[in-house]
Amino acid sequence: MAGQVINGKEIVATIREEIKAEVLELTAVGCEPGLVVIIVGDDPASHVYVNGKEKACAQVGIYSEVHRLPAETTQDELVSLIHVFNRDARIHGILVQSPLPAHINEDEVVDHIAPDKDVDCFHPINVGNLMIGKKTGMKPCTPAGVIQVLKRIGTEISGKHAVVVGRSNIVGKPMAMLLLQENATVSIVHSRTPDMAEITRQADILVVAVGKANLIGPEHVKPGAIVIDVGMNRTDGKLRGDVDFEAVKEISGAITPVPGCVGPMTITMLLQNTVNAARLSQNTQ
Ligand code: NAP
Repeated sequence: MAGQVINGKEIVATIREEIKAEVLELTAVGCEPGLVVIIVGDDPASHVYVNGKEKACAQVGIYSEVHRLPAETTQDELVSLIHVFNRDARIHGILVQSPLPAHINEDEVVDHIAPDKDVDCFHPINVGNLMIGKKTGMKPCTPAGVIQVLKRIGTEISGKHAVVVGRSNIVGKPMAMLLLQENATVSIVHSRTPDMAEITRQADILVVAVGKANLIGPEHVKPGAIVIDVGMNRTDGKLRGDVDFEAVKEISGAITPVPGCVGPMTITMLLQNTVNAARLSQNTQ
C-alpha cells in the first residue's frame, strides 16, 4: 500500500501563521523582528532564493532588507557591511547568501557575523552550541525544518533508528545532531560507505541530503519508513529530489515531495530564527 505523501504546504502555512502571531506580539512591544540578506554576484538561482526569503518575510510581517552587491565586491567590503548590521538595532538576523564569488572566503565571512544574529546557524559558536546541546534560539534551518516536519506529522523520534545520507556541514552533520537531541539512534552514511543500502534499509526515519537525483530507490528503504528528501536537483528543467519518489512512495510509510516541503520549511525556520533572535535581543537590552 502506498504511504502518505507529506503535505508540506499545509505544515508550512500552519507554522507561518504561528510565526506571524509572534511577530505581531513582538512588534506590539516595540521589537519588530528584522532580517537583512546580503547577496554578492549574479548567480540566478541565488537571486531566486533571496527573492523567496524577502517574500516570506513580508508574508509574516518581518522587516527585511536585501543588499544586492556586485560580483567584484571585496571580502573587506562585505565584512564591513556585516559589521554595520551587527551594530544595527533594527536588524536581528543577518544572512549572507551562499555561494559567494570564488575570491571571497565564505568561512571567514561567517566568522564576522555576530553569533546572536547568525540566523543560518553557521557561525562556529552556534555550531559548537548545537554540538553540546545548548539552547540558543538559533537552529540550522534545513535540519530544524526536517525535525518540524517529523513532529507535525506525529512521528515519535525518540528510540527510532534515523539514518542520514550525506555529511555536509549545512545539512548532514547538523541533521544528525538534531536527531540525536531528539533521542534517535543515528547513523550517517556518505560517499565512502561501502554498502549504503544495508544501513539505509534499517532506518525508521531516512533523511537524504546528497544532491543526486534518484539516488535512493526502494531497495534502500525499509517498508513503512518515513523518508525525508532534502535534495534539490534541476534536471530537464524540473526540480527533483534525491529519492525516486514514485517508486519509494509505494513502500514508505510517509514521504516528502520535492518541491513543496523541505525547501519552504527551510525558509520558515529562517523566519523562526529571526523571531527568536528578536525575542532574545529584548533580554539583552
Ligand atoms: P554537499 O555539501 O555536496 O554534500 C553532499 C553529501 O552527500 C556529502 O556528504 C557526500 O559524501 C554525500 N554523497 C555524495 N554522493 C554520495 C553517494 N553516492 N552515496 C552516499 N552519499 C553521497 O551537499 P549539501 O549542501 O548537503 O546538499 C545536499 C542536497 O540538499 C543538494 O541537492 C542541495 O541542493 C539540497 N539542499 C536543499 C536545501 C533545502 O532547503 N531544501 C538546503 C540545503 C541543501 P562525502 O562527504 O563523502 O563527499
